[in-house]
Amino acid sequence: MERIAVFPGSFDPITKGHESVLKRALPLFDKLYIAIGINADKKGFFSIEKRMAWIKKVFQDYPTVEVIQYEGLTVDLCKKLNANYILRGLRTSADFEFERSIGQINKKLYPGIETVFILTAPEYTSLNSGIVRDILCHGGDANQFVPDGIDLTA
Ligand code: ADP
Repeated sequence: MERIAVFPGSFDPITKGHESVLKRALPLFDKLYIAIGINADKKGFFSIEKRMAWIKKVFQDYPTVEVIQYEGLTVDLCKKLNANYILRGLRTSADFEFERSIGQINKKLYPGIETVFILTAPEYTSLNSGIVRDILCHGGDANQFVPDGIDLTA
């Protein structure tokens, strides 16, 4: 059976924290979908097109990675893609509590799914997309927090 995983998130924008988790998870899976969740009621900071283009650029040399967008329940996406794993990153105990309830509910909704967690690299524990957006809103340079080759101001 192929090991197919979905890494869901808003990636608004992708950060070095996401990149680190994803690259370390690559050897575990035959196929890894990076799935940008779209919420019709919540407009993102960056357009879906930009978010998608940045992620595609970061993973252009990784043939097992595919970048997609989706609406609705993550488990429904997993069923559609025949994915048996959801990948998530864990930074803090707050992440753990949040992820535990989502993971357990997802398992109820779709017993065929397992959630797999990768611990954040220590240098990225305090990094999240919200901080990057705050820096930008206040005129700062946040490029050091996003993967090499991405220019948030371009
Ligand atoms: P959400 O939309 O749920 O806030 P994000 O799009 O920010 O999620 O992130 C998706 C996944 O990436 C989550 O599992 C989150 O824990 C993980 N993640 C985000 N930032 C980091 C980081 N700095 N280190 C490790 N994992 C991270």
